[in-house]
Amino acid sequence: MNRLEEKPRIRVLDPATINQIAAGEVVERPASVVKELVENAIDAGADSITIELASSKDTITSIRVVDNGCGMSPADAELAFVPHATSKITTIEDLHSIHTLGFRGEALATVAAVARVTLITKPTMSGAVPGTRMMVDGGTVREKSGIGAPDGTNILVEDLFFNTPARKKFQKSKNTELAHIHDILEGICLSHPEIAFHLYHNGMEQLVTDQTERSLDTIARLFGSDVIRDLIPVEQSLPFMKLRGFVSRPALCRKDRARMLISVNQRYITSSGISDAIKAGYGTLLPKDRFPIAFLSLAIDTDLVDVNVHPTKKHIRLSREKEITEAVRRAVNDTLLANDLIPAAEAPAAAWEPAPPGILASRPVPYGFSEGSPAPVVAETTHAGTVSTDQRLRQTELAIDPEPTYIVSSLLPEIEVIGEFGGIYILARTKTEELLIIDQHAAHERILYEQVSDQPTDSRPSQELISPVVLHRTPKEAAILRDLIPALADEGFVLEGFGGDSFLVRAVPVVLGRIEDTVLIDEIISDLTNEQASESVTNRERITRVVACRGAVKAGTVCTREQCQRIVNQLRHTKNPFTCPHGRPTIIRFTRKDLDGMFRRI
Ligand code: ADP
Ligand code: MG
Repeated sequence: MNRLEEKPRIRVLDPATINQIAAGEVVERPASVVKELVENAIDAGADSITIELASSKDTITSIRVVDNGCGMSPADAELAFVPHATSKITTIEDLHSIHTLGFRGEALATVAAVARVTLITKPTMSGAVPGTRMMVDGGTVREKSGIGAPDGTNILVEDLFFNTPARKKFQKSKNTELAHIHDILEGICLSHPEIAFHLYHNGMEQLVTDQTERSLDTIARLFGSDVIRDLIPVEQSLPFMKLRGFVSRPALCRKDRARMLISVNQRYITSSGISDAIKAGYGTLLPKDRFPIAFLSLAIDTDLVDVNVHPTKKHIRLSREKEITEAVRRAVNDTLLANDLIPAAEAPAAAWEPAPPGILASRPVPYGFSEGSPAPVVAETTHAGTVSTDQRLRQTELAIDPEPTYIVSSLLPEIEVIGEFGGIYILARTKTEELLIIDQHAAHERILYEQVSDQPTDSRPSQELISPVVLHRTPKEAAILRDLIPALADEGFVLEGFGGDSFLVRAVPVVLGRIEDTVLIDEIISDLTNEQASESVTNRERITRVVACRGAVKAGTVCTREQCQRIVNQLRHTKNPFTCPHGRPTIIRFTRKDLDGMFRRI
C-alpha cells in the first residue's frame, strides 16, 4: 500500500471536544461557574448582583446569576458563547493595562460546553433593541429568540457536567461545593464593596452585602461585627502601589490562612508571597502556627501585574514582587506597633434604647490611679497554696528584675491590680480608665514560654532530681517517648530506659523549679506522647509549650494581690503579652465607654 494514502493518525479535534477539554481548566466545580458568571456581571458594570442556587438532596442542580449591568445586544449574545470571543481586549498589549476581571473569552463557551445554559439579556438604554433569549446545550445552540426583558443579564446554568461523567464523579459533597461557593463570593464581595450582592440557596437568603464605600461594612456583613472590633486599619503608599485594609489584633488569630483575603486591583487572588508577608509583619506577636485575620486590597500599577498565568486567574505574577511583599510586611508591622493591641471586650449584644435624657446623664468621674490602694477582692491570708505558688512565680523571675523600676518599652500600659476572681482571672486597671481582665494561667504560661524560648538552644539549663522519677508507659507511648528522648535532652529533660516500657527521669529543666512533683513530670511526658505531632511545629516548640503550660500557675489557684501584680509585671516584659503560646488571649479590656454603654449611662 502506498504510504501516502495511509490515513493519518493525528487529527484536529472538533470544536465541541476542544471546548470540553478547555472546560477542564476553567470549570472545575460549581463554584467556578459562580465565579465566572459573577465576574462577567462585575465587568458589565452592575451595581447589584444576585446569585440563586438550587440543590437536590445531594447536588447543586442550578446556578442563576442576575445582574443590572450593561446587557448584550442580540448579536453580542450569540458571540458571547463563541470560544475566544471577548469585548474586553483586542491585542495582547491590552493585557498591560487590563481593568476587567475577564479577558480570555473562554468562560461562557466552556460553561455552555458542559452544561445547559439559558441566557436572557437586554442592553441598557437600548431604546428599540429587544431582549434576547438563548439556550445552549452542551455547546450546541438550541434556541435564539427575542423576548421582553429587564435591562441587564440573567444566566441560568443547569445540569453541570451532564455530558462529562468523569468530571461529575469528582464533585465533592453538596456541602463542600456550597462552602467553595461561599469562599469565592466572600473574596469577591470584599474586593467590590461598591456592589450589592445577594446569595440565595433554595430560596433562602444566605449572604447579603449592601453597596457601601466602607469596606468595614462589608467585612461586618460577612464575618460579623465581633470581628471588626479587633481589626486595625492599615494603609501604605508607594510610587507604584497603594495598600489599604485591615489586620487583626494578635489575639484574634486562626489555625489557618482562610481569613487572609487579598485582592490586587479588585481581583480576589491567592498569593502565598503576600500572605507570608502579612504573617511576617506580626513577627513574634503570633505563634508560628497561628495566622492573623487580614483583609487587604492592593492597587498596583497594571503593567507590574501579569494576570494571565492561570486559566482561572486565581494566581497572578508580580514584577517587583520583593518590594511589594516587603512593603506589605512593613505596613502590617508599623500598624501593629502603632496601635493598642489589647483586644476589646464584647460589646453589648443589641442596640440599646437610648436612656431618657437627663436621668442618667453621665458626668465622667476620673478614676484615681494608685491613690490609696483599693481593697483586695480576696483577703490576703496565707493559705497552703500561697507558698508553692510563690515558689512557682519566683522561678519565672529568675531571668528578669522582679520589681522593675521602669520598663524600657512595653506593649502594655502600666497596670495596677485590683483583685482576682475565682482563682482564674486577675482584675486590673490602667491609667486611662480601662478595666482589664487577665487570664492568670494564660499570662503565666506566656511568661514561662518566652523565658524558655529565649534561652540559647544548646544550653537549656537542667537540674537533677534528688530522687529520679520512674514512669511506666503503654507500649505505644513508650515507642513515641523513646524517639523523643534526644529532643527532650536538648530541652533539659534527662530520661533513660529503665527496662521494658519504663523510664527513669533524672533531671528536668530549671524553669520548672525545684520540683520533686512526680505527678507534674508524669503530666508533661503524657502531654508530649499523646499530642498529635503536627507538621508545622517542631519538637522543640512542642516541648517548650508543654513545659510552659504545665509549669504555669494553674487556673483555680487563688493568688494574692501581690502575686497577681507580679504576674502582670512579668507579662509586661514579654514580647507578646497578648496571647498565650497556643494563641488564646491573655488579656481583654473594657473601656469606660464600653461599661457606660452596658449600664446605659449614655
Ligand atoms: P471574558 O469575560 O473573558 O470576555 P466570557 O466568555 O466570560 O469572556 O464572556 C464573553 C463576553 O460576553 C464578554 O466579553 C462580554 O462582552 C459578554 N458578557 C458575558 N457576560 C456578560 C454579562 N453578564 N453582561 C454583559 N455582557 C456579558
Ligand atoms: Mg468572563
